[in-house]
Amino acid sequence: MNDLSHSPFFATLQDTFGFSSFRENQLEIIAAIHAKKDVFAVMPTGGGKSLCYQLPALLMEGTCLVISPLISLMKDQVDNARSLGIAAAFINSSQTREHQQEIMAAHADGKLDLLYLAPERFAMGSFSGQLQQGKISFVAVDEAHCISEWGHDFRPDYLQLARLQDYLPGITISAFTATATEQVATDIVARLKLDNPLSIRASFNRPNLNYTVCMRHNTGQQIIREIQSHPNQPGIVYRLSRNDVERTTEVLKRNSISALPYHAGLNSQQRNHNQEAFNRDEVQVIVATVAFGMGIDKSNVRFVIHGDLPKNMEGYYQETGRAGRDGEPADCLLLYNRGDMMRLGHFLDQLHDEKEREIGWQKLTQMADYAEQPVCRRKQLLNYFDEDLAQDNCGGCDICLQGVEELEATTQAQMLMSAIHRTGQRFGAGHIIDIVLGARTKRLLQFGHDKLPTHGVGKKYKKIFWRQLTDSMLRDTLLHADGGKFPVLHITEKGEDVLFGRTGYTLQMVREIIEQSQGQTQPVQTVHHELFENLRELRKKLAMEQDVPPYVIFSDKSLHDMCNRLPSTPDEMLAVHGVGKAKLTGFGTDFLKEIGSWLAAHPDVQPPHPCTQPVIAAGRQRPPSETISASAALAKQGFSLEDIAKKRQLKPSTIANHLAQWMEYGNRLDIDRLVDQETITLLKEQFKHHDPSFLKPIIDALDGRADYDEAKIVRAFLQQSSANTDQ
Ligand code: ADP
Ligand code: ZN
Repeated sequence: MNDLSHSPFFATLQDTFGFSSFRENQLEIIAAIHAKKDVFAVMPTGGGKSLCYQLPALLMEGTCLVISPLISLMKDQVDNARSLGIAAAFINSSQTREHQQEIMAAHADGKLDLLYLAPERFAMGSFSGQLQQGKISFVAVDEAHCISEWGHDFRPDYLQLARLQDYLPGITISAFTATATEQVATDIVARLKLDNPLSIRASFNRPNLNYTVCMRHNTGQQIIREIQSHPNQPGIVYRLSRNDVERTTEVLKRNSISALPYHAGLNSQQRNHNQEAFNRDEVQVIVATVAFGMGIDKSNVRFVIHGDLPKNMEGYYQETGRAGRDGEPADCLLLYNRGDMMRLGHFLDQLHDEKEREIGWQKLTQMADYAEQPVCRRKQLLNYFDEDLAQDNCGGCDICLQGVEELEATTQAQMLMSAIHRTGQRFGAGHIIDIVLGARTKRLLQFGHDKLPTHGVGKKYKKIFWRQLTDSMLRDTLLHADGGKFPVLHITEKGEDVLFGRTGYTLQMVREIIEQSQGQTQPVQTVHHELFENLRELRKKLAMEQDVPPYVIFSDKSLHDMCNRLPSTPDEMLAVHGVGKAKLTGFGTDFLKEIGSWLAAHPDVQPPHPCTQPVIAAGRQRPPSETISASAALAKQGFSLEDIAKKRQLKPSTIANHLAQWMEYGNRLDIDRLVDQETITLLKEQFKHHDPSFLKPIIDALDGRADYDEAKIVRAFLQQSSANTDQ
């Protein structure tokens, strides 16, 4: 991989896609395809799979065939590719025969880079003959898991693809999917007859997603609050039932939030309409059951809220995965209530097949554990996919951000159990909590439970505290809940030990969990909010004129970058994230004009000097956080990396990241005290010959003479000084 840094791949990445660096694994995959090697890649949603086949398709002779399962998505995919200046087309049953012939003629004439096809095309005998009229560079199979019966989206049509090698002997195939267990992976490789493929399994970590779990106490209000913390930003609210979808949609509308429903009870026309409206930013929020998803390619979803507990972790990962595909921060909020588990479990209990029931319960319990355990959410999600998270603190979930507090809760646990005991272990959590809170509900009075000595003993604490305590005691098996629709609480032997004072009980809870349902992520920061809105409007107008979704024109990330950089010339525009030559030609003038007239109306705003702009991380618009600035301040005072780490009680690697980021934001820092002179010289030499996006080859080449922390600091330093000398 070392010799790739001067390959045409980088030039194409910049010129066509407008990006300055590859994401993890992209370069390796592209190089393999380019060298005519089969590829099997599992990459998470938003990982950037399409670039992996679009880029080599541009550099290789012939047409790349892209197999994609959803006809409804093809048009958007093709529009997107065309907006980048890629010669792309699709063939499907929605077109006239003449139109199809035109496209096949373009293919035969070698005028296409990409041709999108649905797999059923291959069922037509004559089709492979037509394809062979032109040259084919390679085949890219998207959503490859659809070929496996073990996958969750099996499509019989995909089985046609098992014969690709017969239709097109010797063809190179690359297969992509975002979900594949070992079994599905083996299936894909075998069915597509991939020949010793380069096999990539990318990390499933989505660093830009922020995970929060909140106890659900007032679903409507909590959802509204979360949406309000994302003004004007698109988001998805998942609800379990159609009724809840309808009800939530109504509540949102009543609160002046533009929202549309999506569930299997609507006819397909209504569903398509609502999905399109969301896709095109005409409505802010879509409230949906899990029926919503597969056809969603929208890159700027800024939040996903689950109003109910999902049935399993796969589903949760998939659904939250629809947020932040553009790599910008996005929030995933799960509203949790243990009652959900009982409710879902009740459905499972109705299943006839014992094995199915067992697996269902196992998955559901894992999901509830995710919500209840005071363990980093990201770590739990990744563990589920057999992956480890190296850091102790992920910095992007409620547990890591807020910390876990231990509370001596023996007395409170005793209060709760005493109420359970005195009412004969015949009531559910809601009623028991009402007793300790001293409520006077009709039901409570009817049973005379207001006369109990435990009535009102726990008034001091909020209801949500008691909920949390009950859940925790259930998890720790101090209590047991009967199955059934209205589960009843019982005290276990372990519970009795606490009730009678033989042992104590400690409750672990997320600090400030209560009432903390606000989005963690700051809305993506843009210096000039008004300009951003103007650019969004312009984007919408152009999108409408060209009948494409707005993100095909520019991503949110590109608009934010424009607001930060305030380009005034085409060259400056090219430096914006996601602006390549075709986009500059297509839309550059319109956007430059809009920025120009906004600047004219705001004479006090100074466009930033180009050299002060972030160099490596073009997308990182957030100003350095306090913690980064604090590390930088100590570095400026001349402290070493280790000293700063000690002072701040952080790991040296964290400090190295802080300092590198500080420089990436365009700030100056002398690094002589941080890395010794000889190491700096060695690293400088290496950076001349290697692609700076990949540190591993450099570290390997230096064989122990430099570590990652030093390499990161020197890299940032070099880019900082090259930015300053490029003036
Ligand atoms: P996937 O198909 O894997 O879900 P996409 O191909 O839709 O992901 O890519 C997700 C987003 O990431 C798109 O907005 C795409 O433009 C962007 N992207 C892809 N590669 C890069 C890169 N190297 N740098 C910056 N953005 C990228
Ligand atoms: Zn975490």
